[in-house]
Amino acid sequence: MVSGNVSLAERLLIEPSDVASPPVRDDWRRSLADAIRDPDELLARLGLTATGCRLSAVGRKFPMLVPESFFNRMQPGDIHDPLLRQVLPFADEDEAVPGFTLDALEEATFRKAPGLLHKYAGRALLVLTGACAVHCRYCFRRHYPYSQEPKRLDDWEPAFAALEQDESIHEVLLSGGDPLMLTDERLVAVVRRLEQIKHLRRLRWHTRLPIVLPNRITWEWLDLLTSSRLTPIVVVHANHPRELIGDCAAALQRLTQAGVLTLNQAVLLRGINDTADVLVELSERLIELGIRPYYLHQLDRVAGTAHFEVSADVGRQLMVELRERLPGYAVPQYVQEVPGAAFKVPLT
Ligand SMILES: *Cc1c(COP(=O)(O)O)cnc(C)c1O
Ligand code: SF4
Repeated sequence: MVSGNVSLAERLLIEPSDVASPPVRDDWRRSLADAIRDPDELLARLGLTATGCRLSAVGRKFPMLVPESFFNRMQPGDIHDPLLRQVLPFADEDEAVPGFTLDALEEATFRKAPGLLHKYAGRALLVLTGACAVHCRYCFRRHYPYSQEPKRLDDWEPAFAALEQDESIHEVLLSGGDPLMLTDERLVAVVRRLEQIKHLRRLRWHTRLPIVLPNRITWEWLDLLTSSRLTPIVVVHANHPRELIGDCAAALQRLTQAGVLTLNQAVLLRGINDTADVLVELSERLIELGIRPYYLHQLDRVAGTAHFEVSADVGRQLMVELRERLPGYAVPQYVQEVPGAAFKVPLT
């Protein structure tokens, strides 16, 4: 395309073949409605059968949810596909394993108002919604009591008031669930309200939607980020380099080329990214997209996730190899959430 009159939207689409046209405002809601919810259908569409792979019987509490875009990045015919393993509920989830509990992080202690967690100095986290566009089987939030959290904007006032009263807080993290599950209109209202709190300087978005539902990265949302007086930081969540292709790569580039500091956090997961080759490739791919690897999390010991655990000893060995093979800026911090600790504790 040779034209002196190209719009910003067009210039930011680095891989135009991956995306027919820039995302239309509410397309993502249709994509979400069309997500795959039936494990048998998912397997059938990959040319696999449920026989031989034992599926979870209690999946209904945290049912399977897989957007079409994420599905499109899976390898047909491969039951070990690293994207499939993140989302397909296997029977291993049903096993009770000692040490894996319901509130592994003891978050209830840090709830300062409905929907507000204040655990670390200078920053506090708003649980904007319990909803996500994908149900990651290893998720530490699968047992979180979201039903007790605020629903309407007015219900957030106690959290906003608590933020207003604590001048030590300079950064608010929007989390969940996934904050981008809210409509842009709702997000504008939340951001405008936070902007009124004078001591706030930064707004950090923790979201997996750029990875699993890339058409959620709307121009309206990017405008909101770049027009706010609060400095935006976006932390996405990809665990494997194969997540970072096609429409996902294009969405991430819209974000980084809009000038937003973008970081990635991953969880160290058995059978998914527990080799140095995969972790090196993940970091390389992120850097190519302009994203800085931030954290590699040790799995939180939450009921139903034991089969994903990689021992910290193996994790440390992997980190040695990452340091040997990558530039310093491409090495994430390997951390563990320790209840009561004042920060995410490095496992080095
Ligand atoms: C992880 C987390 C943060 C952010 O920690 P950083 O080290 O700044 O990334 C803040 N609040 C809560 C409750 C968290 O769990
Ligand atoms: S997107 Fe994040 S919060 Fe939602 S299920 Fe996955 S890991 Fe959990």
